[in-house]
Amino acid sequence: MATPVSSLNQLVSQATGLFKQMFGDEAKIAACAPGRVNLIGEHTDYNEGYVLPMALHLVTVVVGSAASSGHLATIVTASEHADEPRRVDLRLPNEGFSQSPGMPDEGFPLSPGLPYWANYVRGVIHHYRAHPLPGFRAVVVSSVPLGAGLSSSASLEVAFYTFLQQLKPDDGHKIPKAIACQQAEHTHAGVPCGIMDQLVSVLGMEGHALLIDCRSLESIPIPLTDPGLVFLITNSNVKHSLASSQYALRRAQCENAASILGKPSLRDATMNDLEESRDHLDDVTYRRACHVIGEINRTVKAAESLKKGAYQEFGKIMVESHNSLRDLYEVSCKELDDLVTAAMEVAGVFGSRMTGGGFGGCTITLLKAQVIDRTIQHIQERYSGTPAFYVATPSEGARALKRS
Ligand code: ADP
Ligand code: MG
Repeated sequence: MATPVSSLNQLVSQATGLFKQMFGDEAKIAACAPGRVNLIGEHTDYNEGYVLPMALHLVTVVVGSAASSGHLATIVTASEHADEPRRVDLRLPNEGFSQSPGMPDEGFPLSPGLPYWANYVRGVIHHYRAHPLPGFRAVVVSSVPLGAGLSSSASLEVAFYTFLQQLKPDDGHKIPKAIACQQAEHTHAGVPCGIMDQLVSVLGMEGHALLIDCRSLESIPIPLTDPGLVFLITNSNVKHSLASSQYALRRAQCENAASILGKPSLRDATMNDLEESRDHLDDVTYRRACHVIGEINRTVKAAESLKKGAYQEFGKIMVESHNSLRDLYEVSCKELDDLVTAAMEVAGVFGSRMTGGGFGGCTITLLKAQVIDRTIQHIQERYSGTPAFYVATPSEGARALKRS
């Protein structure tokens, strides 16, 4: 059976209840933003390529109220897996504050520090596009599993940004909002992520995946309305400590490959370019570039297949993507490989692959709706760990929530 997930209403009740308990009054504003799953296009966003994610029904909710406490903000997270303490007090920047593009100096009110989870919040406040902000109190709750590759981090950033928009509106432009949230992750959480997670959390559309061009930041909605079809997320429930250092290393390897090929980014390179320069690249750099160039092509092809309902073809491209991530980009792990192998053994499964940065986290599997129970059961029997399952429901992006 799929893992139970709290509904949006349940999350809002949990958050407002906690707010009342902590601060003694009612939360007047509320906002939410979804996590995401990427169907294909892995490690392509920071190479200015294509990605094909959908926003999920798993969401982060932020509720709160302006406070008369001048330049102070108090934020509480209810997430059990966040590091302690789960309540932080932050000093907000004063009038005349200007955002420095890089990491703020030590001693600056919003410089990164402990607890680590609050860096996402500090970063969003720092990069918020309409300062100064009034003092406030807020509570964060989430149904996105933390650190599972479903982007709890972007959903926290985008939900928090959307909350701040209710306190002190910015210009409402969506793409600069996603970029501000990505900046927060770079400068304050120290994760050099691409733009996919924040963009889909902002722009998600119910019933659709989005084919996003990470160079122009344009997105094309791809309908996912066939009731006979399911995208199933399987959480391996493992995360290897390699994940963040290897992510930064892959990014650097891609930049190096592009520069050897004489291209601004790997988005501009073709397989022919790569073959022509093969002698100038060491084996590892060659394989990294080969994955990225191949994956960008696969993503465009896969979106076409999905549009025409060619699910066999889409599934085949998913498996090619997984194999490339495993063999050329080397970001998979035994648990993810085992989950993909187990899924592919079930009749009615079209394709399966690791999704997200890798070294643990989740797989995504495309299958006929009628074989879902059998697929879950088979994976449970085959997988040595304790997986969690979510049916991926393509959902709306971030929004303010009405408080009655
Ligand atoms: P992912 O984005 O795939 O879930 P990351 O490692 O990028 O994984 O981000 C997870 C981190 O984001 C958590 O360890 C925590 O620091 C922070 N985070 C995400 N959601 C919350 C939340 N609701 N409350 C507190 N921290 C959160
Ligand atoms: Mg993340």
